[in-house]
Formats: sequence, structure tokens, C-alpha cells
Amino acid sequence: MRYLLGNWKSNGNGALLDAFSSQWPKFPNTIQVGLALPFPWLTHPFSCAWRGAQNVSAFGPGAFTGEVHAGMLKELALDFCLVGHSERRHLMGETVAHTAQKVAALIEQTILPVFCVGETLAERQAGQLETVLERQLEPLRAIKASVLIAYEPVWAIGTGVAATPDDADQAHSWIRNWCLAQGLVVPPILYGGSVSPQNAHQLAQIASIDGFLVGGASLKPDPFFEIGAQLAR
Ligand code: PEP
Repeated sequence: MRYLLGNWKSNGNGALLDAFSSQWPKFPNTIQVGLALPFPWLTHPFSCAWRGAQNVSAFGPGAFTGEVHAGMLKELALDFCLVGHSERRHLMGETVAHTAQKVAALIEQTILPVFCVGETLAERQAGQLETVLERQLEPLRAIKASVLIAYEPVWAIGTGVAATPDDADQAHSWIRNWCLAQGLVVPPILYGGSVSPQNAHQLAQIASIDGFLVGGASLKPDPFFEIGAQLAR
């Protein structure tokens, strides 16, 4: 099974969701697709196969102003939730400890965590790719429940410069071997970072890529559907 997940970030509206819904029948049904939506649109009716949130509170119910806890996401019957997206790590100060709490909270509510990892350009250039991945993956070490992993190099997110198929393959293989070394069942590993209809075909040829997490190109039905068609081939 391959996966195509869109991440709308802080974009979109109900009309856009309606546009996706009306075009949904065009979607190849051999891949699992879903959209990670901003909280307000999670209750908007739409016929996307999977609905997901982009964030969850590291805490349970209580005096945590502005937080949305995993039990609330469960009430909305969500299928998945992103954890550790680079924008949350780098712009919102999310730590490895937060991501561990979030994964645990989601698993307790049987919501699939989509766990995002990836290095900055400076870290890559300093030869720290594996050290960074190892540090970020730590919360998954003791997790026996199903997760998805998204490898998203920070330098590729929203820049228009995707990883080369070789670079993506190398990182995916490293993550796969790390999972095996921990005695984990290797989860599906998605690639994210400037995936577009132009580069999806090449990236989709790589066997270690089990799908895509797509930001900018998930904000219009046509490019998103085109990427889906490349994955389904
Ligand atoms: C993302 O936000 O997860 C992402 C991959 O964004 P983009 O596709 O725009 O690079």
C-alpha cells in the first residue's frame, strides 16, 4: 500500500475542501490518500478517504489554553495526526520529549501518528544526517503500535528543491535499518519536501518510498491528483 497525504498547514477553507470532495471520485483507489487539515476544517463534511490533524497536544484535558488533546481528535474520528513536522520543531519549539508525549497520546486514542523527521541543510552539510534522524526517531524506539514515518528534509520543505531520488533512498534505507535494529516492524516511510507533479514520477520509482507527504501541491486538487496518479502507477 502506498500513501499520499496532503498537509494544508495554515491554509485553505471550506470551499477548497468542497472542491476536493467533488473531484475525489477521480482519485486512484489503489493508494491510501488523506488530508491533514487545520482544526476548523476537521468537522467540515468531505469525502476524503482519511482525515488528519496537523498537531495534537502533548497533554491530556485540563488547563492548557489553546491546546487540542488527543481525546478530542478521537471524538472527531480522525484517522491520523502529524507529529514533529519541521515547522513545529523549528518554528514552535517542539522538542523530542514533546513528540514522544504526542505519539503516546495518539496511540492511546488509536489515532495513527505520522511521525516526521528530517535534517536542516547545515546539519546535512556537517555530515549529521544520521545523528539527527537517530535523535528524532528516539520516541519510536519502544513503540509497538502502527505508525507512519515521513522523512522530510527541512531544506526541501517549501523550497521547490526536492531531495534527489538517491538522497531520499539513502535516508529511507537508513531509517528502515534503524527500525530493524530496534526490533520494530518497519513502518511505511513517506517522503516529503517539494513533491510536485513534475518530480513525483521519478521519486515514485524508488522502492523505499512508500508514499508522499505533500504541502504546497496539496492546496489544489489537480496537482495533488496528478501526484496520486504517479504514485499509483
Ligand atoms: C510539508 O509541509 O510537509 C511539505 C512537504 O511541504 P512542501 O510539499 O510544500 O515542501
